[in-house]
Amino acid sequence: MKPAKRIEKLPPYLFAEIDKKVAEAEKNGVDVIRLGIGDPDMSTPEFIIDRMISEVKRPENHKYPSYVGLDEYREAVSKYYDKRFGVDIDKDKEVVSLIGSKEGIAHISQCFVDPGDINLVPDPGYPVYGIGTMFAGGESYKMPLKKENDFLPDLSKIPEDVAKKAKIMFLNYPNNPTAAIATEEFFKDVVEFCKKYNILVCHDSAYTEIGFDGYKAPSFLETEGAKDIGIEFGSLSKAFNMTGWRIGYAVGNEFALEALGRFKTNVDSGVFQAVQLAAVEGLLNGEDSVNELNKIYEKRRDKIVETLKKVGINVEAPKASFYVWAPVPEGYTASEFTTRVLEETGVVVTPGVGFGEYGEGFFRISLTVDENRLEEAMERIGSQLSL
Ligand SMILES: *Cc1c(COP(=O)(O)O)cnc(C)c1O
Repeated sequence: MKPAKRIEKLPPYLFAEIDKKVAEAEKNGVDVIRLGIGDPDMSTPEFIIDRMISEVKRPENHKYPSYVGLDEYREAVSKYYDKRFGVDIDKDKEVVSLIGSKEGIAHISQCFVDPGDINLVPDPGYPVYGIGTMFAGGESYKMPLKKENDFLPDLSKIPEDVAKKAKIMFLNYPNNPTAAIATEEFFKDVVEFCKKYNILVCHDSAYTEIGFDGYKAPSFLETEGAKDIGIEFGSLSKAFNMTGWRIGYAVGNEFALEALGRFKTNVDSGVFQAVQLAAVEGLLNGEDSVNELNKIYEKRRDKIVETLKKVGINVEAPKASFYVWAPVPEGYTASEFTTRVLEETGVVVTPGVGFGEYGEGFFRISLTVDENRLEEAMERIGSQLSL
C-alpha cells in the first residue's frame, strides 16, 4: 500500500521531535513540566456542563443534527456578535456550525481553491491554513509575520502576480503563536487589498475572548466592507475550555458560507445537538466566566514575563491569547535553545520554527498550566538556566 501524495507531503507532526526528548527525560526520572501545547488546563464552566447534562437526556437530541446547525445555536451566535461586537449577523444565511473551527479552516480551501491556485498564509502560523491549502492542490504564499511590523503581514510586499492568483488570505488575531493583536487600520487595509484582488479573507478568531489589561479584541467583521469579502472562524474551545467538545462556527459572507455548507453536507453531518445547546449557554451567558478566566491567565502571564526578564530575555507582556512569544537569546537557534531549556530545567517550551521558517529566533510558552506547576517551572528557569 502507498498513501496518496497529499499524505506523503504532510510535514512531520510539530511536536514529534519534542515528544521524543520528553519521553527520554521522563525515563531518566525528570519531572517534566509542559508549557508547550495550547490546550486549556481548567474545566469547562459548570453552567455549560449543566445544560449539556439536561440536553443529553432528551431523545430529540440523539438524531442527526442539521448540517448548518440548530436554529437556536445560530441565533445565539448572531446575538453574541451583536452584543459583543455590534455586528449584524443573519442567523439564516450568515452562520454555519462547525465541528470545531479547525474543521472549517481545513475545509474552506476545498470550496475555493483549484489545483495551482495560491493562498496567502501567515508564517509563523497555525499549520492548518497551509495544510488545507495543500490538500486542495493549492500553493501557500507565505506572508512573514515580523517583529518590526508588530507581527502583522506587510501587504505591500505581496507581489502583484501572486495577489492576482490568490484565492484566500488567512489571518488570525489575537495571533497564535506570536500573541500579536491587529489594529483597526490593518483590518481596513486588508479589506481594501482583498477587494481589489477579489480574495476571500478567512479570519481565525480563536482567541478573541482571551485578553488582558482590559483589552478586548475586535472581530474582523467590525471593519467596514468586511462581510463583502470575508468570513470569520469562531471557536468556543479557548474561551470556555471546551477543546474536547468540538464546536465552532463560521460567520460572515453569505456566498462563501453557502459553499462551505454545501461541502459539509457531503462530508459530515453536523455537531451533536446537545453540544450545540450547551454552547448556546457560553455564547449568551459567558461573560463573567470569560472575565474570570482572563484574570487567571493574566496572573500567569505576569509571572512568566517577570521570570524571563530576570534571566535576561526581554519580552513584552502580550495583550491577548494565552501565549508568550519570546526572543531566543543570542547564539542559539530556536531548537537549540528549547532543547537546552528542557535538558537543564525539565521545562518544555516550543521552538518558533515549529510554526514556520519566520518563527526562527523565537520560542512560545503556553499559559495553560496551573499556578503551582507554573511557579515551579519559573523557579527552575530562574535558578537553573545558565545563559
Ligand atoms: C486552537 C486553535 C484553533 C482550533 O480551535 P477548535 O475550535 O478547537 O478547532 C484554531 N485556530 C487557532 C489559531 C488555534 O490556536
